[in-house]
Amino acid sequence: MSEHGGRPLTLRASVLLLVATYAAAVGAVELAPADRPVASWWPAAGIAVVLVACARPGRLAVPLTVAALVVVTAAANVTGGRPLDVATAFGAANAAEALVAGLVLRLGRGRAGGPPGLAGADDFVRLVLAALAGGATVAAGAALTVATLVPGGSPGEAAVSVLAAHAASTLVIAPIALAATTRRRPRGRSEELAVHVAALLVATLVVFSPAQSLPLAFVPFVLLAWAGLRFDLRTVTVELAGFAVLTTYVTDLGWGPLGNAADAAALGGLAAATLAQGYLVCAVLITVPLAIVVAQRAELLERIRSDGLLFRRNFTESLLGQVLLRAEGADLVVVDINDAAAAVLGAGRESLLGRDLGGLLVTPQSLPDLVVGLSTGRIRSWQSTVGVTGREGARVDVALAVIDRELDGGLVYSAQLLDVSREHSARRQLEAAQKLTSATLDTTDALILVTDLSGRVVRVNAATTRATGYGETELIGRLVGETGLAPDSGDLDALFVWPNRSGAPVVREGEALTRSGERRRIVWSSNVVRDEHGFPAFGVMTGIDVTTERASAGLVSHLMQAPIGTALLGLSPEGCIEVVNTGAVQLLGHQPHEVVGRRFVDLLDREQLLARTGATDLRAAFAALVAEAGGGETRAREWTFVGGDGSPRVISVTLSATDPSLSTGVGYLCVGRDVTQQRRSQDMLAAALDKERTAVERLRALDEAKTEFVSTVSHELRTPITSIVGFTEMLQDGSVVEPLPEQLRLFETIARNGERLIALCNDLLMLSGLDSDDVTWRSEEVDLAACLGLVEDSVQPLLAGRDLTVTFETPTGPLHVLGDRPQLERVMVNLVSNAMKFTEDGGVVRARLAQEGDEAVLSVTDTGLGIPLDEQEDLFKRFFRSSTAHTEAIQGTGLGLAIVAAIVEAHGGRIRVRSAHLEGATFTVRLPLLHSGGPGRPVGDPGHRPVPA
Ligand code: ADP
Repeated sequence: MSEHGGRPLTLRASVLLLVATYAAAVGAVELAPADRPVASWWPAAGIAVVLVACARPGRLAVPLTVAALVVVTAAANVTGGRPLDVATAFGAANAAEALVAGLVLRLGRGRAGGPPGLAGADDFVRLVLAALAGGATVAAGAALTVATLVPGGSPGEAAVSVLAAHAASTLVIAPIALAATTRRRPRGRSEELAVHVAALLVATLVVFSPAQSLPLAFVPFVLLAWAGLRFDLRTVTVELAGFAVLTTYVTDLGWGPLGNAADAAALGGLAAATLAQGYLVCAVLITVPLAIVVAQRAELLERIRSDGLLFRRNFTESLLGQVLLRAEGADLVVVDINDAAAAVLGAGRESLLGRDLGGLLVTPQSLPDLVVGLSTGRIRSWQSTVGVTGREGARVDVALAVIDRELDGGLVYSAQLLDVSREHSARRQLEAAQKLTSATLDTTDALILVTDLSGRVVRVNAATTRATGYGETELIGRLVGETGLAPDSGDLDALFVWPNRSGAPVVREGEALTRSGERRRIVWSSNVVRDEHGFPAFGVMTGIDVTTERASAGLVSHLMQAPIGTALLGLSPEGCIEVVNTGAVQLLGHQPHEVVGRRFVDLLDREQLLARTGATDLRAAFAALVAEAGGGETRAREWTFVGGDGSPRVISVTLSATDPSLSTGVGYLCVGRDVTQQRRSQDMLAAALDKERTAVERLRALDEAKTEFVSTVSHELRTPITSIVGFTEMLQDGSVVEPLPEQLRLFETIARNGERLIALCNDLLMLSGLDSDDVTWRSEEVDLAACLGLVEDSVQPLLAGRDLTVTFETPTGPLHVLGDRPQLERVMVNLVSNAMKFTEDGGVVRARLAQEGDEAVLSVTDTGLGIPLDEQEDLFKRFFRSSTAHTEAIQGTGLGLAIVAAIVEAHGGRIRVRSAHLEGATFTVRLPLLHSGGPGRPVGDPGHRPVPA
């Protein structure tokens, strides 16, 4: 019946118990003596009560069980031979009993809805109440049934007998089921149990033997009490059940004190049976409470023992340092201490017992004050981190509280100690490490972004805020990909996801947009910081700003590819070609891949190189070349290179050492220009110059020959012409013959042209004289004012027949210059006569001499034909005659102004002209005055060439 094992009955168990109810009922009815209206014992009642008490919770289980009990019990009564009406009535009465007793028992059900138990005094009282209530119910039913349906039956007797039988049945059988929920006592008393069972059996058999008439009915009680004291409830209930079966049976047989008593006292069999049931009730009332109490006590002791054990284990084996203390005056004395606490305090357990806690700990507060606070209840507990006496640097978390008050009124304290020295020093180290990390992060030039596993920025360094312009708060918390600084967090994601990665960082170059919108090139190197278990903890992105490098690299490659004619070769310190530019490719006729990696000296004409450097091998030759550069640059020198097609190319080369701090791979820079063409041009130029020089020399010789010729011819012509003129005058004046009047005109013409020829010859001789180096100038003090007066007189004849206004302005005083008087007069005459010649009648000619500063200035102005501007450049050249002079057919040789200019120049003066076509002309001559500190040099020194204005 214990198969439900503390759980509500299953359907199967309920059915089995119903069958058992039926069988027990049939058995009881069968066994009941035929003369009795009711059975003397009714075990089915106990089973039925268990069925109801242990039925499943819920609304249906109990009603269904009760209905089934009505049917089963009625059926059993019918089976036992009772009439149907009686059987049905008994069935209903039995079911009502089970319902009442069962419900009373169900009041003691556990919270979880389990079956009622038999663990304490309350449970036992409920069992007794259930038995009595159930018994009373069925007794009432039985009495009613006997009174109405059993003719001749005694309802009173039936009621008493049924009450006893059913109450006993419930008290004996229900505990077996109820005890199933109690704990089984540990085994180990099987021998005692065997002896006990044997003793009980023997005692029962002896007491209830057929011939036994001594009233020894109490003896089994002693043995049952033994069971109650010594064995668990289950054993006791089972024993009681066995005892009940046996005593009931033998009493029914008429044996034992009760059976015999029935005979002796002439009691009816029913009364004896009722007595036996009462006897059983007593046995149960004595034994079961005893067993319950003993079990309770044992359980309590067990719990206390295990609690104590638990406490002890907790105390001694705790990893937490535990100290029990007792207040003695102001001291807290160690009463007990576990190993962990002893280890924290750095001493042996035994040596610490009896010591004052205040002496063991270094606390900022005074312990005696705390003890007062704790003992008065002002402070509930105290927690702090303290030091330990004698353990330098140790840190201990301590929690102090009152835990108990002893019988004598003294307080027991507990102190829990936890050594946090390692955490403390680890934290200090961590703080130091964090400070170091911060300092490292903030002093590096690299940009550093630390992210969590979701790619959100958790930390940035100073370089990042500097370079990007973003404040720390603007970056922290944002996804890396959204900051615009790093391309995305994909690399980090990949690093986080692949736990078996090699750990090599992912390097990627990207564009970063700063706060001001500037674009920077950043090389990001991303990696993951893992915790001690190897799981990713943080992502770290380290960025280097390569904007400048990229820009200059771009510039360099641009320059190297630029179409310039200069060859640039970057050489390694060992002399191998590292980089070449387009110019070098063109000049050398080699493709870049043909020369990069080759030795520079391999490109040069070997013989020339060795000869010039005096080296015996190419390596030494290169060393000699760069030695010339020293730390700087070689002078430009022409070298013969062997071109890609094998042809020699002359290239002017400078070699310079590069700054090793600026470029890593390149040690020397070779700059070359192709001078083949230049050399050719130079040669051509030299040849052309040479030709020109010979031509000039020939021209000069020719010029000299011409001047010589003109001078000779003029000289040779002048004498005969002079005689022609002389003879013509003689013919004119009639010294030879009286000329005829018509001849006179002819003689005049001959004389006039002769004079002109003489003038021409004089001019030519004058000019060739001026040109020749051996002309001699007179150097005397000349008063230009006086000269101009003479000139005024000498030009008067030219006015004959002309309508011209000619004025002369001279200064009041003399104007002295150093020079050749006749030549200076010639200058004046020439200029004034030209002005008169080229001015038409009605015009004005004005000659003016004045002092301006330290110069004498002669200006001759006319209102005549003037000289076209574009012709003025040649005005002072020999034989120049203006186009106007030609068209107006004005006579002249074109030598006058050339002579004037030569004389003015020989006197250190200048001549200028200002004129325009038909607008007159002004010739201005400036000569240095004698006493002005002007040129002290003799006349004839080459001075300024007269220039046109
Ligand atoms: P000639 O007077 O014998 O022709 P010159 O050497 O004296 O030679 O003058 C050269 C030319 O300069 C003249 O032929 C004339 O065309 C121009 N010339 C000189 N003086 C004047 C002037 N005062 N007005 C205009 N033209 C002049």
